[in-house]
Amino acid sequence: IVQWTPFFQTYKKQRYPWVQLAGHQGNFKAGPDQGTILKKLSSQEERCFQLLMKDVLRPFVPEYKGQVTCDDGELYLQLQDLLSSFDCPCVMDCKVGVRTYLEEELAKAKEKTKLRKDMYEKMIQIDQKAPTEEEHRSKGVTKPRYMIWRETISSTSTLGFRIDGVKKGDGTSSKDFKTTKTKEQISEAFKEFTAGFPNAVPRYLERLKNIRETLNESHFFRTHELIGSSLLFVHDKRKASIWMIDFAKTVPVPDNITIDHKSAWKVGNHEDGYLIGINNLISIFESITSK
Ligand code: ATP
Ligand code: MG
Ligand code: MG
Repeated sequence: IVQWTPFFQTYKKQRYPWVQLAGHQGNFKAGPDQGTILKKLSSQEERCFQLLMKDVLRPFVPEYKGQVTCDDGELYLQLQDLLSSFDCPCVMDCKVGVRTYLEEELAKAKEKTKLRKDMYEKMIQIDQKAPTEEEHRSKGVTKPRYMIWRETISSTSTLGFRIDGVKKGDGTSSKDFKTTKTKEQISEAFKEFTAGFPNAVPRYLERLKNIRETLNESHFFRTHELIGSSLLFVHDKRKASIWMIDFAKTVPVPDNITIDHKSAWKVGNHEDGYLIGINNLISIFESITSK
């Protein structure tokens, strides 16, 4: 249990500890305007936000308010702080998609055929039986092998999303969902996340369906591969909502390729499985409401 508070925010005269569930601490700062935060600039992500502000998905992403240069000389994106209008919010980050690395990153990893002892060690720490006999003998695995394996220990490769972090309103948080994999395990985690907030589940479900419907109409979604992007779930006693965040690894689909976000991924086809994740999220939340 850790209290993860990189800085304090002020909104309508209320002071509250900001919650960051993923990424490096240094990547975020309090924003210059009330109700905003700063995220370290990536031009890839800025480009996405600029397009999203003109897309039907706009209501489902934090508002983008332009670039800011900080005293340290670093460039940041100023974004709506999604927590501002909540009172002691419970927050959950779910990373969507059947893989969390770009095709390009895998291709780069494949160029290096060196066996990695560090990755072998990480592998056996999680699962003694994961390495092949050959890999056990050499006490090493290649990087692409490790990258592909890593997506199979959580629900990423099977359900098309994984829980990346959770923090309840009382300050308790658990960051260890690395091997949370089955529908049953996820369902338990969602129940724990929403326990004591009976309104949250039906609202989350409605919002997820809204998101799915809008994705199907979005030009941005049709033309981009969404990798490592998350849905941020936020609720308190009064309300509950979900936003799409983190477009640092969202890239345009190459000209000669179209993707449907739900076909199986094969190296080179650029499918991200985003809709596989959304559909599974909806079916898991539905199974919780019906009980
Ligand atoms: P990573 O790639 O490791 O996921 P990152 O540096 O790209 O991290 P994000 O995923 O965009 O950063 O954000 C990290 C965390 O910060 C999120 O999990 C969420 O808790 C919080 N966060 C990000 N954007 C917002 C926002 N607009 N409003 C409120 N919280 C946010
Ligand atoms: Mg993220
Ligand atoms: Mg990111």
